[in-house]
Amino acid sequence: MILFSSLSLREELTRAVADMGFETPTPIQQKVIPHLLSQPSDIIGLAQTGTGKTAAFGLPLLHHMDTSRKDVQALVLSPTRELCMQTQEEFIKYSAHMRGLKTTAVYGGVPISGQMRELKAHPQVVVATPGRLIDLLERKALSLEHVKYVVLDEADEMLNMGFREDIDFILKNTIAREFTWLFSATMSNEVRGIAKRFMKEWKEFSVSVANSTNENIDHQYFVTNRHQRFESLQRLLDFAPGIYGIIFVRTKQDCQEIAEKLMKQGYHVSPLHGDMDQKMRTKVMERFKAKNLQAIVATDVAARGIDVNDITHVINYELPDDPEVYTHRSGRTARAGKKGICMSIVTPKEIYSIRQIEKLVKQRFNRSDIPDGAEVVRKKLFYYLEQIETAKPQKHFAEVYLQSIHDRFEDMDKDELIKRLIWLQLKDTIDVYQDAEDLNAGYDQQAPRGGAGDNSVRLFMNLGIKDGIDSNDKLIKFITESTDIEANMISRLTVRDLSSFFNVPKTAAEFIRESLSSKKFKGRKIRIDDAEQRSGDSRGGSGGGRKYEGSRGGGSSEGRSSYGRRAEGGSKSYFDSDPNRQEGSYRGGAPKERYSGNTSTFKRQSPSGDRGRKRD
Ligand code: AMP
Repeated sequence: MILFSSLSLREELTRAVADMGFETPTPIQQKVIPHLLSQPSDIIGLAQTGTGKTAAFGLPLLHHMDTSRKDVQALVLSPTRELCMQTQEEFIKYSAHMRGLKTTAVYGGVPISGQMRELKAHPQVVVATPGRLIDLLERKALSLEHVKYVVLDEADEMLNMGFREDIDFILKNTIAREFTWLFSATMSNEVRGIAKRFMKEWKEFSVSVANSTNENIDHQYFVTNRHQRFESLQRLLDFAPGIYGIIFVRTKQDCQEIAEKLMKQGYHVSPLHGDMDQKMRTKVMERFKAKNLQAIVATDVAARGIDVNDITHVINYELPDDPEVYTHRSGRTARAGKKGICMSIVTPKEIYSIRQIEKLVKQRFNRSDIPDGAEVVRKKLFYYLEQIETAKPQKHFAEVYLQSIHDRFEDMDKDELIKRLIWLQLKDTIDVYQDAEDLNAGYDQQAPRGGAGDNSVRLFMNLGIKDGIDSNDKLIKFITESTDIEANMISRLTVRDLSSFFNVPKTAAEFIRESLSSKKFKGRKIRIDDAEQRSGDSRGGSGGGRKYEGSRGGGSSEGRSSYGRRAEGGSKSYFDSDPNRQEGSYRGGAPKERYSGNTSTFKRQSPSGDRGRKRD
């Protein structure tokens, strides 16, 4: 295993990297850093955001700086002010122990005078957006005369944003330039053009998309009708109570409108787009980084500046026109070795685009059902139960309030108290999701590949997230490994806490049922049933979108209750049934396991539990 300490970086840099908690270099760092330290030359690095590319060029760059000199020796060009600020922040951390080293970031959208002052302090490294840099050059606020190293970061994006002439101008004006390091997520003719015009013999380093970020991304798509896109978004957000995500939209106007609509309904989100001034954008990013927001609604350009490592979900409210842009979006999650989910809301007609993107990212996308009301309520219940399990009330809180609480509820039965507390937490969700519509677009329009549609059967299996099958990919892997069938025969996957559902061709159903039923999972018998015959999840079958009516336990329609009903309403209310018992009946009498696992894959806690959300 390669360690940072074996890379022969200056001791101050190795120490800073250790302070930052980096242990091993990422693949692009392993390739680029040793080369740039031992035999610096021009290079092209093909790597997306999230691969650790900033450190790949930043550490060698700082390593080569002569801190005894006071002129600008290195210039990093970035497409956006956000990226510029982030790179600067990273550089400050890398150079924490390098005495005498100064880096400055200059970018548009803020008064130029402050930056002119900072440049007077003689930084050796300047990180800049092209437009602002040229402005400063024209004002003679800095000189590029002694710049030896130039980094073009996200060159493809700078070209997309129309900076070609500015880049040419800047490169022509770095007369002492010896090394040009170009980083880009993609290699277009235009990018190659810059290399040909301005670089000497260069060496190329790349980390392929599939090997870097994308393997850890679970790509999912949800098919709905055009007019139900917003409701589908809401449903997906509600179904991911621990979400820490980015919702991508196509235009600034959509960004504003969708964010406002979500905020009105109590979601902790904020828009981020280019029409907002720099101050507001910085504020949004601060709130997001502090996890005071559960998601940011962003345009592609604005989102380029979001540098957060633990994004759990990327949601494409609409797919981008360019499949390449999809990879930029999805690369926002599953960073630095973590796992993430990229969800896309599509209409039946847009499934075609999904196929194109699949080819580009060389990964199969999993089509999933948009959860129904009952599933959302259930998910929130489990999330809340888990929060209770893991909560650590402040000592002070207990000292001050416990006695009063005790006095007040002394006579109330513990179960009754629990029931009421949980009811209060969930009643708004239950209210909203009472009679919630099925948002999945008609199945006949969208027969999934692998021969589903009319020729498919929907099966239920008594294994789910708690058993370690916590993604569609894992479900496919489990089924294919246990039965020897091809992955493309399985479609419409739905993974739930304790169970899962999937469609298979009718002709293969019996074989799959028998193969799986004959196996055991951790000593427990695997049960496969026809989902149509269960009350649990009937959607997705060839019969089309029947509404999910409630209890997963009964099996007979009499036993069903609607999760949407209020507790005090009828005899078969949500809280009349013990969810534990319901699931237990599915699990062949193993109900105890149900709380033992980790319901939420993600560590983030919801900011303030359930908020009162009302439909428009
Ligand atoms: P980048 O691709 O440069 O935008 O980096 C993505 C994130 O990964 C940044 O927040 C870095 O701080 C972090 N990072 C970079 N290199 C490493 C590493 N070797 N180990 C852990 N995290 C890293």
